[in-house]
Amino acid sequence: MIPKLRSDGINDCPTTLQINRGRSDTFAEPLKGERVILHVDMDAFFASVEQRERPWLLGKPVVVGGDPGKRRGVVAAASYAARKYGIKAGMPLVTAKKLCPHAIFLIGTDRDKYEDVSSRLLKIFYQFTPQVEPCSVDEAFLDITGCESLFGPPLQLAKKLKEKIETKLGLPCSVGIAPNKLLAKLASSLNKPDGLTLIPRDKVKEMLNSLEVTRLCGIGNKAARTLSTLGIHTLGELASYPVEVLKRKFGKNGEWLHLAANGIDFSPVISQTVPEKSMGHERTLPEDVTDPKQIASVLLALSTMVARRLRQRRVRGRTITLKMRYSDFVNLTRSETIAFPTDSEHVIFKVTHKLALGATSGIRKVRLLGVNVSRLTEGEKFFQTSLPFTEYRDKREMVYPVMDRIRDRFGEGAIKWAGAASVV
Ligand SMILES: [Mg+2]
Repeated sequence: MIPKLRSDGINDCPTTLQINRGRSDTFAEPLKGERVILHVDMDAFFASVEQRERPWLLGKPVVVGGDPGKRRGVVAAASYAARKYGIKAGMPLVTAKKLCPHAIFLIGTDRDKYEDVSSRLLKIFYQFTPQVEPCSVDEAFLDITGCESLFGPPLQLAKKLKEKIETKLGLPCSVGIAPNKLLAKLASSLNKPDGLTLIPRDKVKEMLNSLEVTRLCGIGNKAARTLSTLGIHTLGELASYPVEVLKRKFGKNGEWLHLAANGIDFSPVISQTVPEKSMGHERTLPEDVTDPKQIASVLLALSTMVARRLRQRRVRGRTITLKMRYSDFVNLTRSETIAFPTDSEHVIFKVTHKLALGATSGIRKVRLLGVNVSRLTEGEKFFQTSLPFTEYRDKREMVYPVMDRIRDRFGEGAIKWAGAASVV
């Protein structure tokens, strides 16, 4: 992830957002027992994923981000061989091309692929602790306090974790272990790639002392320039600088700078399951079709699958989207937002069918169909019981629970609506 720079030069990177910068009440809390926090950061994530798929790229300068000929775009990830030429994430691709003309530039637009690796990574983390806080596609904090009895001391656990990631995903990562998130994040960055770094409580001062201030996540170049005007270049200098002066110079962030440089951070690892933003299914048809009836039957089947998933997660959605790919690979999406959130396949079907009728000519061949529901809200009983059977409700809803139970027991293909295609 490329941290955005704020006007005051304090980086808004995902980690520091969770560190409650500037909230003195949080930092003033007394330390209750020692925590063990682990930060995992994949090495050159996008580039490593590409290299894993194409082993002949291993050890070569690989830059993921786009086409350097197009004068736009920035480096999303650079392999370590590319970094030797000074190429860094966030740098314009044209600059990267100048620094290393023979680097291999990859577009890397397959977000699904990276997200898939990311979710498999998360599953590995959860095998070690339930306290996992993902902070970007390739980084997470793990609170492993009290995990010794299962996995041994922290360093041993970290080794096991690294091995597991290597054997299951074939990807390198760096791990930092420390008493808090701020230091764990710093630790993982100290010995990249393939690093494993521990910052024990009694070594914090010593290890931070001579590091440049920008090594700490949250201190950007602009803040560093302001600090240098005060004669502060290292974290050791920042740690011993009068906090009152920092407060005058940086406002509420002054106190955060003081505490951070002293390695103090009480922010908890917040494990959260990110609520899904949309639910959808799509199918490439066994053969390209033009017949509106065939299209309708696939849409009914897809709508049923989506609605069932909505019901399983107890959510409803208002925006219904139809996706169509024609035989010439041209994609089309059409959406409609309805007045009340729904989890009814017949409501979803009605909307997608209408949208499809407007998008098919009966001549142009359709290759793929997709149905998606977004703007999800928690399912509310209120809608279920209070709405009359109108365009927002369908009488057939009364049968849904029974059909769902049959599918639960005998599989998704066990029962379907008359007229729905078999797509399971
Ligand atoms: Mg990374």
